[in-house]
Amino acid sequence: MTRLIFLGPPGAGKGTQAKILSEHCEVPHISTGDILRTAVKAGTPLGRKAKGYMSAGELVPDDLILDLVRERLSQEDTVNGWLFDGFPRNVEQAEFLSELLAEIDQTCAVVINLEVPDDELVSRMLARGRADDKEDVIRNRLEVYRAQTEPLITFYRAQSLLVSVDGNQPLDTVSETLHKIVQRDGTAEVKEV
Ligand code: ADP
Repeated sequence: MTRLIFLGPPGAGKGTQAKILSEHCEVPHISTGDILRTAVKAGTPLGRKAKGYMSAGELVPDDLILDLVRERLSQEDTVNGWLFDGFPRNVEQAEFLSELLAEIDQTCAVVINLEVPDDELVSRMLARGRADDKEDVIRNRLEVYRAQTEPLITFYRAQSLLVSVDGNQPLDTVSETLHKIVQRDGTAEVKEV
C-alpha cells in the first residue's frame, strides 16, 4: 500500500523516477502531464482545452485537473495505492486532494521533493526537447513553479510529510535513495527537515 506524491521543479526527473518507483511498489504512476499530453494528441475535449496552456508553460485550469484526478482515483487499480507525479501543483489542488482523500478514506504516506539546481534543470529540459521545452517556455514553467508549486513544500512540511532528495545525482543513485525511503510495502520513512 504505497500512496505518495512527487514534487519538484520541471526537469528534475520526477517522471523518470516516479515511473521506476511505481513499478518497484507495484502501484499506478499517475502523471497529470502524461494524461494531458495523451488527451492533446487524441484531440479530446480535455486536450483541446489544455493545449494552449501547456504550450505556453502555464498551469491548466484547476477545474479540468480536479475532475481528471477525481475520475482517476475512482478507478479500481488505485485502491492499493498510487503515485502522483506533477499533481498537486498549487495550494488549491493540494487542498482539494486532502479533501478527496478524506472522503475516500485514504491518506498520503509521503511527499518526495526532488531538488535540482536551476541551471541543471534548464540544460536537462533543452536536451529532452519536448514540445514545451523551448527556452522561453522553460523560463515561464520555472516561474510558475516558483510562484505556485514551491509553496507546497511548506504546506507538506507542516504536515510532516515532506522528504527532500538530492536529484542532482546519477539516475541510479536517486532511485536507490528513493527505494530506501519508500519500502516495498509502502511504509515510508519521513525524516529530514
Ligand atoms: P514538467 O514537470 O516538466 O513541467 P509535466 O508533464 O508535469 O512536466 O507538465 C507539463 C504541463 O502540463 C505543465 O506545464 C502544465 O501546463 C500541465 N500540467 C500538468 N500537471 C498539471 C497540474 N496538476 N495542474 C495544472 N497543469 C498541469
